[in-house]
Amino acid sequence: MSAGTTAVVLAGGKGSRMGGQVKKQYMQLNGRPLLAYCLETFENSPEVDDIILVCGEGDETWCREQIVRKYGFTKIRKITVGGKERYHSVWNGLKAAENCGIVMIHDGARPFVTESMLKRLLAGVQETGACIAAVPVKDTIKMADQDQLVEETLPRQKLWAVQTPQVFSYELAYQAYEKLLGAGESGEGRDDAALSGITDDAMVVELLGDARVKLVEGSYDNLKITTPEDLDLAEQILKKKN
Ligand code: C5P
Repeated sequence: MSAGTTAVVLAGGKGSRMGGQVKKQYMQLNGRPLLAYCLETFENSPEVDDIILVCGEGDETWCREQIVRKYGFTKIRKITVGGKERYHSVWNGLKAAENCGIVMIHDGARPFVTESMLKRLLAGVQETGACIAAVPVKDTIKMADQDQLVEETLPRQKLWAVQTPQVFSYELAYQAYEKLLGAGESGEGRDDAALSGITDDAMVVELLGDARVKLVEGSYDNLKITTPEDLDLAEQILKKKN
């Protein structure tokens, strides 16, 4: 048990949109697994006390040897196994985080989270208990029906593209996720419309928690590696950073 700040890093996905054999979070970016990049930022951050790594079933030993030991990470308190959907993995991570004060939920497939982002998020979470990284959208966004006919053009000046980390008071996040999934143990069996529409953690808090969610500036570089093209883009970003 700790009352500090815990990062829950999600690496339990299958990465099926990447193609190939290796899950995307373990793919190599400039000679290191993608997952090692964000872990390094959390490891080196004075703001972060410890890390829960959520991996796929059967990947625990590989993660312990090829990530934790190989790169000498010392803050990884626990490696826990994820679930079928991202929100199942988050719930497992929250349970493993055991009553920390603040929880930072992050996609392991986003290598370019930065220390300054973490600082902005931690300042923001003090305001309402819920603070997420986001960037203003650059494109005009339209809603369309199933025939691809436009229903509505959304006001761009109010639109943000949401990223991770998503940072919450632990109690707020835990209670919201417990309402969503807690009743049926892991919630693995549930498949209602409410669950299928859950695309980020803030949504769970917006729907089931009692706090307004604050947005702070993320970064256009803070991309989630989803397709092989994203890996090319990540290499370019890395060159720019070095
Ligand atoms: O699949 P998606 O791109 O939304 O995944 C975002 C992050 O959540 C990735 O880092 C992935 O490994 C993780 N994830 C997970 N458990 C799942 C699905 C995704 O930990 N069941």
